[in-house]
Amino acid sequence: MHLCAEFFFRVRVPPPPTLEELLQFYEQKWRSEGYESAEEEANYKAYGREILTAFWEIHGRDFQMPLAVEKIFYIDVGDVKLRGFIDRVDKLESGGLSIVDYKTNKELFTTDYLEKDLQLTLYQLAAEQLWQLPVEKLTLYHMRSNTPVSCPSRGQPQLNDARQLVLDVADKINCQIFPATENDYCPCDFPEHCPYYRHQYRENTSETANDEAQPIAIGGDEVERYVSLQAQIKALQEELATLRQEIIDYCEAEEMKRVYGAENEITYQLVDITGYNEEEVRAFLEPEGLWERVTGLDQSRLKQLLADAAVAQDIKNRIQSLRQIISTQQRLLVKKRQNDDKAP
Ligand code: SF4
Repeated sequence: MHLCAEFFFRVRVPPPPTLEELLQFYEQKWRSEGYESAEEEANYKAYGREILTAFWEIHGRDFQMPLAVEKIFYIDVGDVKLRGFIDRVDKLESGGLSIVDYKTNKELFTTDYLEKDLQLTLYQLAAEQLWQLPVEKLTLYHMRSNTPVSCPSRGQPQLNDARQLVLDVADKINCQIFPATENDYCPCDFPEHCPYYRHQYRENTSETANDEAQPIAIGGDEVERYVSLQAQIKALQEELATLRQEIIDYCEAEEMKRVYGAENEITYQLVDITGYNEEEVRAFLEPEGLWERVTGLDQSRLKQLLADAAVAQDIKNRIQSLRQIISTQQRLLVKKRQNDDKAP
């Protein structure tokens, strides 16, 4: 899409290319890699043709020669040399400049996105250095809908912030500080240097395995073993939960408290968990002005209250009298069987 827009506007004199020439160029530049099927590729190709046809109709109608197309720039920001390409620069009737950047994003841009877009800010810096003319308009051109979304140029504070950002980033690059941040465009062109992707490019992870100062080298086998162990643990946990319930059900049904294996025995217990009923405690503590100290009936806060020497003993006694069974847990206690305990 970028190349086609460039082809359309990069003419020495009007008129621009015809629709046939534009679509022919599109066919020549089309790359078939990356599509899941021939059908998907054909759909995308047809979609691209539609976009370009609309593009040609809109811009062919009142074609204006741009000032520059796909313009390479080198600018100085402090000691830093910044290089880039601006898709299109137009000269406005006022004498100022208009910068256009083509985007193939799915969604249309929000005003906020447009006003904060760093790329446009840097383009403004570059264009004003290159042509010594003021930039008056910044545009992100949404190719899919052929919609230009524009805003006025940046003010000095935003330009200064962008300059400072360039200096900071350059400084960090010089100091080798550039933490990788995963994003929608990963992997980039440098996956072999990236902490998220570098492992895939290691030829032999056992290189460092024999050096005691180094951690054990992790290769693909270890990764797969880890995942496999996790899956086994999950399956075992499920099996354990099922068997546990079967033992409990059996003990309940047969009114037994213990079951025996060849080496081990399992005792079935019902353990009462005691605590306090929120409504009852609240009804008692609120009139005493103590409810805030245990708001929401936090059992640990209630324990603190009971341990507090400043709280009257009769209050503590009355709270403790409210203690009751709030749930019952089923437990299985496993023990090794004694030798003389085993069945013959
Ligand atoms: S692949 Fe790594 S270095 Fe490249 S953009 Fe993603 S996180 Fe950054």
